[in-house]
Amino acid sequence: MASSSDSDSQSKETILSRHRTAAEEVVSDHTQLYIGGEWQDAASGETFDTLDPTTGEVLASVPRGRAEDVDRAIEAAWDTYEREWSETTTSERQAVLLEIADRVEAHSEELAKLETLDNGKTLMEARIDMNTTAEQFRYFAGVVESDRGQTEDGDGYHGKVIHEPYGVVGQIIPWNFPLAMASWKLAPALAAGNCSVIKPAEQTPLSLLRLMELVDDVVPDGVVNVVTGYGEEAGAPLSKHEGVRKIAFTGSTVVGKQIMRNAADNVTDVTLELGGKSPIVVHEDADPQAAVETIAFAIFANTGECCEAGSRLFVHEDVADDVLEGLIGAAEGMTVGDPLDEATDLGPKVSHEQVERTTNYLESAREGGAEFLAGGEPPEDEALEDGCFVAPTLVEGLDHEHEAVQEEIFGPVLEVFRWEDYDEMMTLANDVDYGLAGGVITNDIEKADRTAHDIEAGYIWVNTWHEMSPGLPYGGYKQSGIGRELSVDTLDHYTQTKSIKYGLH
Ligand code: NDP
Repeated sequence: MASSSDSDSQSKETILSRHRTAAEEVVSDHTQLYIGGEWQDAASGETFDTLDPTTGEVLASVPRGRAEDVDRAIEAAWDTYEREWSETTTSERQAVLLEIADRVEAHSEELAKLETLDNGKTLMEARIDMNTTAEQFRYFAGVVESDRGQTEDGDGYHGKVIHEPYGVVGQIIPWNFPLAMASWKLAPALAAGNCSVIKPAEQTPLSLLRLMELVDDVVPDGVVNVVTGYGEEAGAPLSKHEGVRKIAFTGSTVVGKQIMRNAADNVTDVTLELGGKSPIVVHEDADPQAAVETIAFAIFANTGECCEAGSRLFVHEDVADDVLEGLIGAAEGMTVGDPLDEATDLGPKVSHEQVERTTNYLESAREGGAEFLAGGEPPEDEALEDGCFVAPTLVEGLDHEHEAVQEEIFGPVLEVFRWEDYDEMMTLANDVDYGLAGGVITNDIEKADRTAHDIEAGYIWVNTWHEMSPGLPYGGYKQSGIGRELSVDTLDHYTQTKSIKYGLH
């Protein structure tokens, strides 16, 4: 691993001063609850700090929203829905979505910097998130235009099928792609004609709050209401509320199950995008160098904090030595350090809690007999000592049943397995509770096709990773979730279907 303090641009003083300057530039004063178009304190008056995971410094304080704030937000959302938003035409909503996309684009560098400060992802990764965010609003502005319902004429009747919004939906967002995940949920919800009460993750509330400030004059008051707070205190009341007709969640499978239980009391519709433990299958004909690039990207992008990360590598014995040698070089060659420095490849994790979670798994892997081919220890670099850093890590020799293999680590940690027998390998590849994504690396189209069909997951990449295009539905098999995002199917998740039958007797 390249040491971040090899260069002056990554000395402790430079990092601190760069972050303080950036925070002064981009952290807004508007970091309150955004309800009914107004900036408000929590009813309790309490706040909590959001930290910069690179330096450990406080970026801002945000309100600690609780049930009564959620109630207020839901009331504001229904008021706007009934008075105004439910009356809007498709093209009026389309204009709002397109303008949001334009504003994101016009402020993308500022928003990217804010995301980097709050989350720790590199600036390059944050810029990609801003493109994704603008793209989501444009995509659903287009898709909603094509939603015209259907008609059905039968013997003695005329029928029509229409899609109506739910009214008010609840949306709970994770910290790994804060604004991009918010856009995956807000864009289809608004396009379909709903109002939203949305809760960002406690670690990363700032980009969504800034977006609302930027679009305050575009989005009618009460259409989007942001309640910051902790999961148990603000997320749980949202998912239990009888005024919420649909709840959409991205996060851990454990919390996803709680959301389903909460929603069950009111028979509220849910979509869940949960964790993953995705297999990468490398066939014997693969070009090792090309494989290394794809695998390194699959596991190390966004510091491994991706639900779709390729975190279990199944590499054919014929190419295993070459691929692993290349991967060790790639891991050790990465610059771990300040995500605001363009030279950095791997930024910090989002929080010390997340670092601890990853290091606990590494400790357990060590006790389970794992061999560390790379990483496994925190970076030895004084400049990074206050930040949430984990080195890119490659692990071999674990039993596939081991918890570090079965559970989502959500860090830059790849577990390696060699194979010769395809069927045995595929049994292992599918032997996890998750089924979000998977991938295959080969130059043989038949092998690619067979493996793509054999992996039990909702999204498969062939010779690439992470790329998602609006129009290709994204979502999980097994315990990785319910429902699909990024596609026409998503609009269906935000509408309810009504049939109207006219008797012609
Ligand atoms: P959580 O599932 O706890 O967090 C996701 C969101 O759910 C956050 O907004 C959180 O709020 C909220 N939340 C937490 N508890 C509740 C609750 N009882 N009711 C309603 N909402 C709730 O994930 P963690 O941040 O704890 O991360 C743990 C692990 O989850 C990670 O290590 C990773 O494995 C996985 N994860 C997966 C993600 C994915 O993209 N699929 C994204 C994030 C995490 P708050 O943060 O304020 O507590």
